[in-house]
Amino acid sequence: MSSIQLSAYQIAQKVRAGLLSPLEVLEDHLKQIAAVDGVPGSLEPKTSDPAEESKVHAFIEVSADLARRQAEQVRARLERGEDPGLLAGVPVSIKDIFCVQGTTTTAASRILYNFRPPYTATTVERLAQAGALIIGKTNLDEFTYGSSSESSAFQPHPNNPWNTERVTGGSSGGSAASVAAREVPLSLGTDTGGSIRQPAAFCGVVGLKPTYGRTSRYGLIAFGSSLDCPGPLARDVRDAALMLQVLAGADPKDSTSAVAPVPDYLAALEEGVRGMRIGISPDYDHITYPDTLTGEMSIQAIQPEMNTSVRAVAEVLAQLGAEIVENVPMPNARHGIPAYFVISRVEAASNLHRFDGVKYGYRARKPALDLSELYRATRAEGFGLQPKLRILMGMYVSAAQHSAQYYQKALRVRSMIRSDFERAFDPNGAYRLDALLTPTTPTTAFRRGEVMGDSVLMQYSDQMTVAGNHAGIPAVSIPAGLDPQGLPIGVQFFGMDFREDIILRAAYAYEQATRDAEWRAVQPQALRGSEVKA
Ligand code: GLN
Repeated sequence: MSSIQLSAYQIAQKVRAGLLSPLEVLEDHLKQIAAVDGVPGSLEPKTSDPAEESKVHAFIEVSADLARRQAEQVRARLERGEDPGLLAGVPVSIKDIFCVQGTTTTAASRILYNFRPPYTATTVERLAQAGALIIGKTNLDEFTYGSSSESSAFQPHPNNPWNTERVTGGSSGGSAASVAAREVPLSLGTDTGGSIRQPAAFCGVVGLKPTYGRTSRYGLIAFGSSLDCPGPLARDVRDAALMLQVLAGADPKDSTSAVAPVPDYLAALEEGVRGMRIGISPDYDHITYPDTLTGEMSIQAIQPEMNTSVRAVAEVLAQLGAEIVENVPMPNARHGIPAYFVISRVEAASNLHRFDGVKYGYRARKPALDLSELYRATRAEGFGLQPKLRILMGMYVSAAQHSAQYYQKALRVRSMIRSDFERAFDPNGAYRLDALLTPTTPTTAFRRGEVMGDSVLMQYSDQMTVAGNHAGIPAVSIPAGLDPQGLPIGVQFFGMDFREDIILRAAYAYEQATRDAEWRAVQPQALRGSEVKA
């Protein structure tokens, strides 16, 4: 049996016990990448081969040599009688927004097409120290700006392994696809407005956004510095918990990383949900969507299977002894996207200032007249549409004459969104929740090209996830079935600050109780090797 059938937990156990060679594990996964991934994303796509249309294209770069060196180190540690770590011999893909020494780190943007970072992100460093094999960099929306991974400057963009005519979601689309297609058991993503959870839901995998500060941002190319959270994507809840165990904890190199103690996430899984209070909110069974011409807000239904899945998950948890708390009001959820639109753009515009063609990355070729000419030409040629739009919007809403009307107001809305959660989780309040259960996304994966080009509609696919980023709380998306078109459905648990253990426990209990459900036996199209068209 190929080790691509094993979970990260199983691989690490076998490797640590000397029952499986880390080099063999690596070769199994490289073979799978060669079989399903197709050509890597690049600035000049070299192929118009129709066979590539049904490939996954999760990767921009496969770092086989780096991973082989790491596998050798794991073997050497074992030979010396040392424990090579919690992720011994586990291949991990890294969203190409994390600096990794020895790889090109592009943020899927032309402006960083040749950037070789002189240092490695703390999260990646911790994975490697725990014995993981860094197998490659995965594609994403340019600078993580998007919800489909189509906006990458590196094409072909990733395709959904469940149906390659559908998007993976984004921005951690390559990461989610690489896990779903068994190219890796684990991937490192980032979540600023939903970028781990939304693609996890679209690709039928588990995605965890930790509490803000739980995982270090050092070496992560910043989008919204007050919102960004690195976190795991995995095929099951235990693997997500295992990876979080390795990632979590204070980092002296990131002053916003939290010093709160890190619990034993794996041990917590087994504690079950008896007595746990899990809320459901009527404010998460629809979306509120603006008419882009009039600004008028209207309520729109979401795909009905999203709501039925939340109900079905709640029922399973109730049978396991959880108490389901109905009608938890989250009245400010509907303002999540407008507030995010403003805050994230202000932070993005500020963070993009450093890309100017002087110190690293792309530089406009035409002989520049002066420094500002060089900046202008470099940015005009180096940035794609999304960074440009976000710079314009961010500068506009934070300008002195507009700030009170937009940016300051958005910050106030952000704290109101946090208050909704504080009320729901208050141990002395009316609801006393341990977790809030919602759909992860309003729909399952959309068709390629269907939403691309409509920034507002694209943004609204994060309506269920974004409140967690505003509030800074943890949230996990897990698979909860397939829709009539055979596309994965995700549901999400929000939790209290630093209580990833609780939401993982709820997620694990559901996963275990539905282990034998029929839908869990269905394989993604990319693994079946047959064409299934919707
Ligand atoms: N889709 C959202 C955006 O475009 C979120 C992206 C993210 O979480 N990085 O801003």
